[in-house]
Amino acid sequence: MAKQIARSKPSAGTPPARKRSRARQAFSSAAADRSSGDQRPQDALVEHGSHEERGANDIRESLVNDRRRGTKYEITPKVDEVAAIHGFMNDLDCKVFDPAVVGVECVESAEAFYSQHVRLWLDRDPVLSKAEVRDTGGGLHTILWLDEPIIVAPGEARIWDDIARGICNALPGDPNLNGIIALTRPVAALNTKYNPPREVRLLRPGEPVSRAEILELSRLVAEQPARLWMRLFFGGERAEPCPFCGKKSLGVAGCWQVRCYQCGRANAASLVYRFYSPEFLDSCKENHHG
Ligand SMILES: [Zn+2]
Repeated sequence: MAKQIARSKPSAGTPPARKRSRARQAFSSAAADRSSGDQRPQDALVEHGSHEERGANDIRESLVNDRRRGTKYEITPKVDEVAAIHGFMNDLDCKVFDPAVVGVECVESAEAFYSQHVRLWLDRDPVLSKAEVRDTGGGLHTILWLDEPIIVAPGEARIWDDIARGICNALPGDPNLNGIIALTRPVAALNTKYNPPREVRLLRPGEPVSRAEILELSRLVAEQPARLWMRLFFGGERAEPCPFCGKKSLGVAGCWQVRCYQCGRANAASLVYRFYSPEFLDSCKENHHG
């Protein structure tokens, strides 16, 4: 998951790439720590496989270059072919969440997940509150559309790809999402992964964000994730009761740590991965280790 990629020196106005990968690395190791043994039922594999197959030719929408629409095979460029970025997306797939944490209804309905959780998280951040939200049938795409496209200089696509992957860590999205070349689904298009097919619906119109706002969000995820996640998920620097023990309160204890007098200190990434089901974390661990 935490792929090492060669990076060129960023140009003025682009923050260093090194720090941005820390959130992802913490997530990877945290996910690996939580999972225990291979408890994934065999049928989950089969189901996942058939989902991959169904819907493969659905119409998607690119957020880069000329924002083409077409099948994923037709419109996905290589990262190095990205010359303009129009938006940054995240993918919150209902089936990866833990019903014991988000509620059974939210694992089955993207709209319920939006109204009961995601809407509140977005509203607590000045940049994320401008996200457009689409119900894609089995999950949510949140999209931060730019007020004007970012023109990507030669050699800088991987830096922006890192930024795209970094800001995804603000929310419990799909950790394997494809960075700047990730595709959304157009509003009103059909998602044929499901039978009957489900229509992609706009849940929140959103408003444009600036390049500076994207970089500020990227900086918060990289440098102060504990503060950011406590604010998004609990509305401030303390959560009472603590979401892990349900007894004492949980608070920010440094850039990367949270602390509860009952639970002790924890990596702040645990605030994000507590939303994922144990089965999903197991599958991340398997992918991570090869
Ligand atoms: Zn606790």
